Parts: sequence; structure tokens; C-alpha cells
Amino acid sequence: MQQFSIDKKGYYGEFGGAYIPEILHKCITDLEGAYLRIIGSERFKADFDSLLRDYVGRPSPLYLSRQLSERYGAKIYLKREDLNHTGAHKINNTIGQILIAREMGKTRIIAETGAGQHGVATATVCALMQMPCTVYMGRTDVERQQVNVKKMEMLGATVVPVTSGNMTLKDATNEAIRDWCSHPADTHYIIGSTIGPHPYPDLVARLQSVISKEIKLQLTVKEGRDYPDWLVACVGGGSNAAGTIYEYLNNDKVQILLAEAGGKGVDSGESAATIHLGRPGVLHGCKTLLMQTEDGQITEPYSISAGLDYPGIGPIHAYLAQVKRARVLAITDDEALRAAFELTRNEGIIPALESAHALAALEKMTFAPGDVVVLTLSGRGDKDLETYFKYEERF
Ligand SMILES: *Cc1c(COP(=O)(O)O)cnc(C)c1O
Repeated sequence: MQQFSIDKKGYYGEFGGAYIPEILHKCITDLEGAYLRIIGSERFKADFDSLLRDYVGRPSPLYLSRQLSERYGAKIYLKREDLNHTGAHKINNTIGQILIAREMGKTRIIAETGAGQHGVATATVCALMQMPCTVYMGRTDVERQQVNVKKMEMLGATVVPVTSGNMTLKDATNEAIRDWCSHPADTHYIIGSTIGPHPYPDLVARLQSVISKEIKLQLTVKEGRDYPDWLVACVGGGSNAAGTIYEYLNNDKVQILLAEAGGKGVDSGESAATIHLGRPGVLHGCKTLLMQTEDGQITEPYSISAGLDYPGIGPIHAYLAQVKRARVLAITDDEALRAAFELTRNEGIIPALESAHALAALEKMTFAPGDVVVLTLSGRGDKDLETYFKYEERF
């Protein structure tokens, strides 16, 4: 049977690895040497489980949507990550990583953020654990995302506006790496998705795998079997998707459908459809598919949804798409908006714009009657209200 986990060097097929400056070698090998032992320890498991339960509010419900089920002629369940504390799945990862940082004796946390969601999730756990926190954020994003900047500051974090490059996520990540190079001994860098140098993609996937562990238990109760026919999730860097599929990767009865951001159309020059358009390259420490020009310049991605506009993709998803374990659809801004308004009006759930891409992917599928489909609703739409208000007339 085909295996979908990383090899010893941190590769999924040709994708992954650790392409890092010499000065970070010790940070990365220390983390690589420690993370599996820590995650497997009784102390970590007890702390992680109790915080996920009492602080985050897990397990997140698995909700059978009558409306979506009728419409698509299959049983459509929503995995409600939108109900987590801070409003999305990102908190699962930041809680796990700050516990690992503490176990490794680190006393300071840094992070990068684009729209600010990962920055807020990181600032939140730093307040919880009373650790100093510095968040790098492109100046363009700082100006666009004032509420999240204010939230991070209220939580006690220092937000550093980055003025290099396009002043967005890619530049913020570069700056966070630079900070880590200057403070390798006392600082842990909390990466927010299944990206970056090995062991981060595997570490983040394992921390988010609580999503699929819960789906197994919940489906056993609701369906009398622990697996669905289809799993559906959106992919930015790929962490909510990795968590959703983790426990099912080697179960070939389970089909995987991923939705990436098609922006104004895959061929419009304004999208973040990395799996459709990307070619192999190295960015932020790993080899993966990247949106780039002929001569290897990274192109600025675009999506209406800030959480999906990253020019790369987690190496696990680049690999799953390449070996056809996952089917990947590009969803346009308009398709995502339409799906978001429909869920809002028919179910009373306002989804995050990212999650709306997964919802819109359902429309492009034909399911067999009785198929069990689990779609991860990665976050709630509070942060996207301004965008929704702007487009409401059209939908
Ligand atoms: C950040 C974010 C995403 C995209 O990140 P992944 O690592 O691909 O999961 C998706 N949905 C929401 C709600 C987010 O905040």
C-alpha cells in the first residue's frame, strides 16, 4: 500500500525537506529531535487534551446539514471548526506549539501573519502561557487588517510592520526567519500552517489531526462506521485540510477533495491556485509547488480570502495532488461568495471566506446517493463581514 507520511528526511515524494540558513541548523535539528518525543509524552497529551477541551471548546461538533444534504443528494456533514475559541482551526496548532516550546525551554515566541488570524491565535496562547510574543506582519496587511492588529496588541503581543518587498505575508515570513536567526537559543517560531522547513509540515499536520480523530469517533456514533466516502476542505497552506485527512490518508475508501483559491479565474493572472499553476521551487524552507514567473520570481498571489492567498502550498498537498490521492478544484471569488451567502441564509451559519471555497466545491461534484461527505468549516465569517456587506447586493 502507498504511504503518505514523510520519509526520514522530511519529504513527501519530491516535496518538503529543510532548506535553511546554516545559523538555524541547530534550531531545526533540536525541534526535529524533540517533537515526536514531546507529542508522544503523557505530560504533553494531558495538557494538550485538557486545553483543547476546556479552553478551545473541543470536540467541535459534526453537524449534519439537512439543506446541503437535500441539495446534493448525499449526507453532508459540517465539521464545525468555526465554533472554536478565536473562531477557526488555527488555535489547535498554536496551543500545541506553545506547549512544545515550553517543554524545550524556550521563553520567547515569534510568528508571521498575513491577514492576522494566525497572529491572533499565537498572541492568544502567548497571553495564556505568559510568554512574550512578537508578530511580523507586512505593512500593507497591517493597514488592511486593523482589527486583528488591535486584537494582537490588546493580547500583549508586539506587532512589527514589515516594509520590504510587497509588504505582505511572504515578506513578513522572511522577517520572522531573520529574527529567529538572531535569537536561536531562547526563541520558538510558531509557523501557522503545514509549510516551512521539516519538521514543521509534519508537526502542524499532527497537531491538527485532532480534527480527523474526532471525525472518526463522531461518525462511528452517527453512521456506524468511522470513515466517510468524501472529505472536503479548503487549502491555503494546508493545515485544516491536513488535519481533516490525516487519519484517513491510507484508507483508500475515503476520497479527498481540496479547494484552492481561483481568485478571478485560474487563467486571469489574479489567483492563488498554486496546485493548478505552480511549479516546483523552494520557498521559506521547503521544496513545494510555487506560483512563479519563467525565471523563478515568486508571483504575488490574489484571493478575496486573505487566508488562502499564499504563493506556495504545504508539501503534503503538492504530493497528494501529484500522485492523485487528492482531487483539487480551483474556486473563484464569486463562487465562494455565493456559497457563503447560501449557507448563511439556509443554515444560519456565516462561514469564513476560506471555508466558503470548500462549500463551493460541492457544486462541482456528483455524489452517489447515500454518500457520506464531511466538509471542514475551518472558521467563522466574523472577520469577513466587511467583504460580505460589500458584495451582498450581488448575491
Ligand atoms: C488561515 C485560514 C485558512 C487557511 O489556512 P490552512 O493552513 O490552509 O488551513 C483556512 N480557513 C480559515 C478560517 C483560516 O483562518
